[in-house]
Amino acid sequence: MSGDVARPDAGGGSVVIDADRLLDTFLALLSVDSYYGDEERVVAVIKPRMEGLGIVWRSDPHGNLIGAWPGRERDGEPIVLNAHMDTVRPTPGMVPVVKDDGVYSDGSSVLGADDKAGVAAIMEAVRAVHASGQPHAPIELVFTVGEDVGHIGSKAFDPSEVRGRRCFVLDAGEAVGGVVTRAPGQRRFEFTFRGTAAHAGVEPELGVSAIAMAARAIDRMPLGRVDAITTANVGTIQGGQAYNIVAPEAVVNVECRSLSEARLERQAADVAGAARQAAADFGGAVDIETHTFYTAYQLDDDDPAVRLADAAIEAAGLEPRHVSTGGGSDAHEFNEKGITSVCLGVGYVDVHTVTEFMPHEALRDVTRVTTELIRLA
Ligand SMILES: [Zn+2]
Repeated sequence: MSGDVARPDAGGGSVVIDADRLLDTFLALLSVDSYYGDEERVVAVIKPRMEGLGIVWRSDPHGNLIGAWPGRERDGEPIVLNAHMDTVRPTPGMVPVVKDDGVYSDGSSVLGADDKAGVAAIMEAVRAVHASGQPHAPIELVFTVGEDVGHIGSKAFDPSEVRGRRCFVLDAGEAVGGVVTRAPGQRRFEFTFRGTAAHAGVEPELGVSAIAMAARAIDRMPLGRVDAITTANVGTIQGGQAYNIVAPEAVVNVECRSLSEARLERQAADVAGAARQAAADFGGAVDIETHTFYTAYQLDDDDPAVRLADAAIEAAGLEPRHVSTGGGSDAHEFNEKGITSVCLGVGYVDVHTVTEFMPHEALRDVTRVTTELIRLA
């Protein structure tokens, strides 16, 4: 039996992906600059390449692209496939460089495989399953905006835009086969320390340094890898006016993450407590603004969505691995909105850096996993 021929039975691995078309699509996606706000350029690559498949497209008011692809010989609840269309910076003038082992940037920008590898995999998987003529469930495609700047598209997404309540998010930095079943919650803080300005040379005793306050607070905060499931970071600090002025104000931004919401609560209290104590020590004040960036989630190993992911990975000839991550993704927001969302390893390497690259093998593997998701749903 020829490996090129799609077998009509659902017995196994029978949808053939077109590796050249996949690479061509991936390069076309990479070549458009799509920082948050410019995702229309990605939409303009996706739509023409997916004509003739029966997909009904629409955009929601936030710029997310939603496609409904009817089932073939099957009905029922669709599954949702998601990837995000934006990338981090710098991307202007991105020139993808194809080498033997994968696709790289030219070193002056990120590659943007995060998450255009996910977009390309979904596009090719749909086309390959369509071409195979095999039965498949209805599929909903959701391509989001602004993931990397703060899950903007998925936070704004109205879950009634889709019928599916199982979503597969192609956006984990794991090797292909990785299935994220545990992800952290994240709390963000902006501390504004307030002291009193004074001439630093003439009458420093009349001043209260907000910078010294901030320094003491930071020194008392549990930071870095706080424990096995908890991390914290001082991301930015600004303050002061001049060499010769005791600083009246300093602003410190801190994030904390934990796989446990209860543990995150304690970590948040520790960080805020350190800030208040330092302000009190100096006779100054601190304003604390906090917000929950996203909430921790955990999926059961035998959740139907997780089991479908496992089955698809196995059908693609790979080994499923359930992992916990320290990162955030659109899966956080969809899970919060009642759409069970499984984030899957895409296999991109060194994301958010100019050395980011996408191995050819991983791109093909994640595409095969996606075809199996569509076939087995
Ligand atoms: Zn991403």
